[in-house]
Amino acid sequence: MTSPRHAWRAALSAVVLAVSVPLVATAVARWDEGRPVTLAAGLGWLVVCVLLPLVVRKGSRPGVTRFTTAATVWGAGTVLAGAFPAATAGPLPFPLLAHAASLTGLAAVSALQLRSARVAGDDQPLAVEVALFGTVTAALSWDALARTGHGGDGWWALGVCLLLVVAAFVAASAVVLAVEHASLRLACAGLGLGAAATALTAVTAPTSPHTADVAVVAAVVGGLVLLTFQPRGGHVRHGGTAVTHATRRLRVAVVVPGVAVLADIALDIASPRADGVLSAFFGAAIVAAALRQAATARAIDRTRRTLSFQARHDHLTGLRNRTALADALLAPDRVQSLVILELSGLDDVTDVLGVGVGEDVLRAAAANLRQHVTGLGGTTYRVRHDEFALLLPGSPEETVRHLPHVFDAVAAAPLQVPGAGRFPVAAVAGVARVEPGARAAADATLPLVHADLALRDARTHPGMLGWSVYSGTVAAQHARRLLVRERLTAAVAEGCIDVHFQPIVDFATGRVVKFEALARWDDRELGRVSPVEFVTVAEESNLVVALGEHVLRRAVGTAHAAGVFDAGARLAVNVSVVQLQSPGFADVVREILTDYRIPAHLLTLELTESVFLDPDSPAERVVTDLARLGCQIAIDDFGTGYSAFGYLDRLPVHVLKIDRSLTQSLTGEGNGRSVVTAVVDLANRLGLTVVVEGVETEQEAAICRSMRAGLGQGWLYSAAVTSDRIVDELDREYPVSPEAVR
Ligand code: C2E
Ligand code: CA
Ligand code: CA
Repeated sequence: MTSPRHAWRAALSAVVLAVSVPLVATAVARWDEGRPVTLAAGLGWLVVCVLLPLVVRKGSRPGVTRFTTAATVWGAGTVLAGAFPAATAGPLPFPLLAHAASLTGLAAVSALQLRSARVAGDDQPLAVEVALFGTVTAALSWDALARTGHGGDGWWALGVCLLLVVAAFVAASAVVLAVEHASLRLACAGLGLGAAATALTAVTAPTSPHTADVAVVAAVVGGLVLLTFQPRGGHVRHGGTAVTHATRRLRVAVVVPGVAVLADIALDIASPRADGVLSAFFGAAIVAAALRQAATARAIDRTRRTLSFQARHDHLTGLRNRTALADALLAPDRVQSLVILELSGLDDVTDVLGVGVGEDVLRAAAANLRQHVTGLGGTTYRVRHDEFALLLPGSPEETVRHLPHVFDAVAAAPLQVPGAGRFPVAAVAGVARVEPGARAAADATLPLVHADLALRDARTHPGMLGWSVYSGTVAAQHARRLLVRERLTAAVAEGCIDVHFQPIVDFATGRVVKFEALARWDDRELGRVSPVEFVTVAEESNLVVALGEHVLRRAVGTAHAAGVFDAGARLAVNVSVVQLQSPGFADVVREILTDYRIPAHLLTLELTESVFLDPDSPAERVVTDLARLGCQIAIDDFGTGYSAFGYLDRLPVHVLKIDRSLTQSLTGEGNGRSVVTAVVDLANRLGLTVVVEGVETEQEAAICRSMRAGLGQGWLYSAAVTSDRIVDELDREYPVSPEAVR
């Protein structure tokens, strides 16, 4: 990438040219007797011209260097040609060589200039340049012919010159017509006319003064038009400050030759043989071109730098992004560790306090992380919404030693939210090894895949270390997930997922009043797979939508056939949040109820709290629809998640299922019992039915009864049974345990 210094060097060379060319050229033209001096000046200039590209070339972008070289060749050629006026044509072939250099340089400059303008995409300044270069080329050709002894009085030279002028004018006009902006179009036309007329003036002055006079008037008109309608800032469509700068320079670039044209005309009138002024015009044109080039180079560079920065950095935190990380992984020079670190709890902050606060938290966490990781000699990236990647020197074994401090750095993010206190933001991380050496892009992402898998592993074991290092075990788990997904897809398609029914018992009467449908899968290859495992896999791949619909239909159908609903008992079915978010879920439920003619209130849908954490999620609307349909809504696993309570007010909830872990704490040492008591009281007050899950002992049942919990479910009564045993369960009366002493 080019630094601004290169553009400035180009601009510097332009300034040197701007100052030197007209001076030297004028000196050459005015003081014929002082030719040794001017020749020396010309040679000196040539030296500068030769050295300048060398200076500029160093570390510069090829485009700028090429342009500067071409411009200096042009300038040097012109100056040296000026040292041998036509009247006293010097020893051939030196002026000829100088002219050849001048013309070649000009042609190269024109070509480069046009190309760079096209690359920059600003076609309107391009039009000005085409006109400028067309006419300058024509005029310079004439000059060359005149100085080498064929011009001025020779009709042949005049013919060639006129042809060139006309060709340039036609080319300029063609571009002028293509320009969109009206005043810019006029400026182009003025420039074309002015320059062509100037050339004509110079050509005809020695032989045909009348024609020259008309041409002078035309040149004055053209110059005035140019000066009046020259482009101003804002005419250039391709926006941004860089281009505005370029436009400003462009204006200078157009004004300078414009003024030179007018000065040339004035001096032509005073002295018909003012070669120096013509040279000044060429010089000014060089300045214009060089300035323009410098401006274009700067504009392109700045835009490129901005784009490239944006492409590789995260807008919110200013950290590098995933693209930058992918590049860093292409050719690491030593063993490194890639840590993918996920903020946990960020969604809670966003849900409760809004996106703005969530972003503040992210920014604060990012700043802390960056500071800490930079201290460790590593780099920080933001790779996903709430995920950062850290590239740290050293093996994963070394890196995990730093992780507690990294976690502290995240937690130390100043999450002091006005009016809301401090927010705890924790993190989980997956670590993978990055081997040194260059590799193909596809292989370079391997550490990312590994770190992601390790992160996923860390997530499934919360409360342990908070991180996991990619290993054979993690790889095996991943392979297992892929296999389960593949087999499950087939099983769902073939309808091989079975449903068992676990009785839910009324603590007061010992009667079974409800069944929870639980999915069961026996695979030919994998054997029995736990629903915890296959439901998780299904949720990751959207397969849970088909799985859930299958289970719901099968559960309702089986329960119906077994007489559950006729006996007035209810059926509870688990519903994943992914199902709720899939379109048409409420319709599926309605359809199934209609198919079996089941009253909706006998169907309970068990949802976990995560459904209710995002008030804007479509899931909330679906829950409302389902409740309106008449279904009961149960909160599953209550006590394991957030237990934010807020949604109990907002949403139709009928049942609270107290999680197994809380049930276990009933008989323990801690204050689990008080917690459950409080929850049961709250639920009873709100008119919700309480189901205590995982009741395994008489003692637990007794405690539940004493705290007025309504229903219990657990192995004390029965595990989930096959459909043929539903009838037995319906007939059954479980012993009612005595109330525990409070
Ligand atoms: P869950 O909804 O909390 O279901 C209760 C789980 O606790 C069942 O495990 C059940 O067998 C087990 N359980 C029942 N009584 C006791 C007990 O006294 N002690 C102990 N230790 N465990 C008991 P299961 O069948 O393995 O299901 C596990 C989880 O899988 C379920 O948890 C539910 O989240 C999910 N699941 C099962 N079937 C489906 C389904 O059809 N759809 C969806 N979305 N999820 C399902
Ligand atoms: Ca459940
Ligand atoms: Ca549960």
